[in-house]
Amino acid sequence: MMVGKLRQARVPGKGIVDLSFEGGRVAAVEPAHSTATGGLDAGGRVVLPAFVDAHVHLDKAYLLAEAGPVTADLDDAIAAVARMRARVPGHTVAAGARRAVDALVAAGTTAARAHVEIDPAIGLSMVELHRDLVGYAGDRLRLQLSAFPQRGLEQGGMPQLLDAALAEGLDVVGGCPYVDSDPAAHLDLVFALAERYGRPVDLHLDFTDDPSRSLIALVAERTLAHGMTGRVTVGHVTTLAAMGRDAQARSFDLLAGAGIALVVLPATDLYLTGHGEPGSRSLAPIDRAAEAGVTVAIANNNLHNPFSPYGNGSLLQAAWLAGITRRLVTAPQRAGLLAAITSGPARILGLPSHGPTVGLEAHLAVVDSVDSDGAILQAPAVLAGVRAGRLVHRMTGL
Ligand SMILES: [Zn+2]
Repeated sequence: MMVGKLRQARVPGKGIVDLSFEGGRVAAVEPAHSTATGGLDAGGRVVLPAFVDAHVHLDKAYLLAEAGPVTADLDDAIAAVARMRARVPGHTVAAGARRAVDALVAAGTTAARAHVEIDPAIGLSMVELHRDLVGYAGDRLRLQLSAFPQRGLEQGGMPQLLDAALAEGLDVVGGCPYVDSDPAAHLDLVFALAERYGRPVDLHLDFTDDPSRSLIALVAERTLAHGMTGRVTVGHVTTLAAMGRDAQARSFDLLAGAGIALVVLPATDLYLTGHGEPGSRSLAPIDRAAEAGVTVAIANNNLHNPFSPYGNGSLLQAAWLAGITRRLVTAPQRAGLLAAITSGPARILGLPSHGPTVGLEAHLAVVDSVDSDGAILQAPAVLAGVRAGRLVHRMTGL
């Protein structure tokens, strides 16, 4: 429904204000009038730019019970989901995907890049599922779709399937070079398709505790050679957490120099990697990457499945977890975490600026906190979500 106005909203740096919307944008931000009526009353809660999820898998969400016995191991998780594909009916997968869309919306997210699994065993059936999901999400959540070869490109027919998914109109060329015996050939194919179809690239990369297996240099080389600066994203990259500071700094220089964005997935990265002795915190240091000029984002990845049993769809909680893991102690550092679930991922998805500022797109989250620092420290509930000036989520009681 059109909300028209958001009253008694606390906007960082502006105090308590009334926001009004027109044509999907913020038309005015004025000091709050206690006698004003109509629209939605935020009750003095903080209003933030809505959250953007740069990396989520809807087509295997809420399927933990169907996966059978699993361990906290990446290869096991990939194998468990592949086995499950053969026996779980399509309507169960679709129900999990719809539940994931609802969970994202209820957590204040208004745009997401979803990785659509492409595999010889299932063909392009997940492309069809996502076409339905785009309709289901409607004006609540904007979905951008990436063609994702979860089990690599060395299986028979995979290059053709990936090509077919792009010909079907998927928005992004995905890649997963770490599962192939020849990762460089995998990257060559992905970048060739990206050039042919004029699409950005999004890679699952370096999902291991072994820094010697990092492919960052190969990706940076191809990004520059194909003229794709600013159009390539890498996700996970847990090798960065296992590197010494000098190697980390060199990697950040490569990423920043080629305009490659970095997305971390705390609920998965911490669960599936960091098995070394002594145990390590397997989350790429996005705070240091941002300081080095890399565009960064924190995202959900998986919800309630063998990759992330604990995932629940909340980007505030993902940022909260990243803050603990990275031991971020200052308010400016926490502002960096907030940027990593709002402006950073919006840039990765190529979306225009949004937030509670006149002229920007009116995608907003009303969070049960009196300030933005508290939103990151506590990961409280999102009481309402607004997308393009329309109320898309409202918790009972607000
Ligand atoms: Zn992923």
